[in-house]
Amino acid sequence: MSCFEAYDPAFGRFVMGNAPLKQLATGFDWVEGPVWFGDAGCLLFSDIPDNKILRYTPGVGVSTFRAPSHYANGHSRDRQGRLVSCEHGLRRVTRTELDGRITVIADSYQGKPLNSPNDVVVKSDGSIWFTDPHYGIMSNYEGFAAKQELPCNVYRVDLDGSIEAVLTDFNCPNGLAFSPDEATLYVADTRRMFHSDPQHIRSFSMASGRPKGGAVFHTITPGCSDGIRCDTDGNLWSSAGDGVHCIAADGHLMGKILVPETVSNLCFGGRAKHQLFITATTSLYAITLNRVGAQTP
Ligand code: MG
Repeated sequence: MSCFEAYDPAFGRFVMGNAPLKQLATGFDWVEGPVWFGDAGCLLFSDIPDNKILRYTPGVGVSTFRAPSHYANGHSRDRQGRLVSCEHGLRRVTRTELDGRITVIADSYQGKPLNSPNDVVVKSDGSIWFTDPHYGIMSNYEGFAAKQELPCNVYRVDLDGSIEAVLTDFNCPNGLAFSPDEATLYVADTRRMFHSDPQHIRSFSMASGRPKGGAVFHTITPGCSDGIRCDTDGNLWSSAGDGVHCIAADGHLMGKILVPETVSNLCFGGRAKHQLFITATTSLYAITLNRVGAQTP
């Protein structure tokens, strides 16, 4: 039986009491970066320390999609359905072409290597937005220990390949998502390793085409917003220390899905994008919701 906590009566309509939180697979090291491929009927996700991208196929189970994955973390799909991946190991963002070739989207900024790209989304205009905290180069656990040469920025890569640091005032930007109308960009700050900086989600107006503002939108407690995704009504679903939190577009906490392991990332998938796939520490979970995910395609 699933376990929910509702803080807003509307949350009761988002979840279903008879829809179980299912542990689909377990025994991993640290999983992140789920992305749904409806056309292939599967979910891809990363086991970062194990250096693999894994494939979960409902009714079949888990198999290896790519190994080594270069310590891949977050994934997304572009508007052509291609896989876009953040790789700690080679400190880059890549696109997997439809024929399987790997194209490097970004691996440096102003002549210096990126830190360890963490999470990525693709806007409807085809621009690729990613966060570049230092987590993957601070030890040899999720990549290779290395000297940090750039601040932990958020970058935008244009269709012509040009890269721009669009947000430069973060401690460690991590999960990110656009609202369904792309009027708002949400970016989580999950603090520098070994520091006690604040952890929260900030929101930015996209009216000018570049993020402006950046007020604190919501502070997750317990835990942090490693991964965030919107449903079609603009509610933000975030990872947290005790499960998944649902946050309304005005920033108030609507409710929680309690998960027995610390949640890292999540994504919507399934035949109607009505299932929430959850990567949580050593396991992959899923739960069916009365919601529809907004991410594309
Ligand atoms: Mg992350």
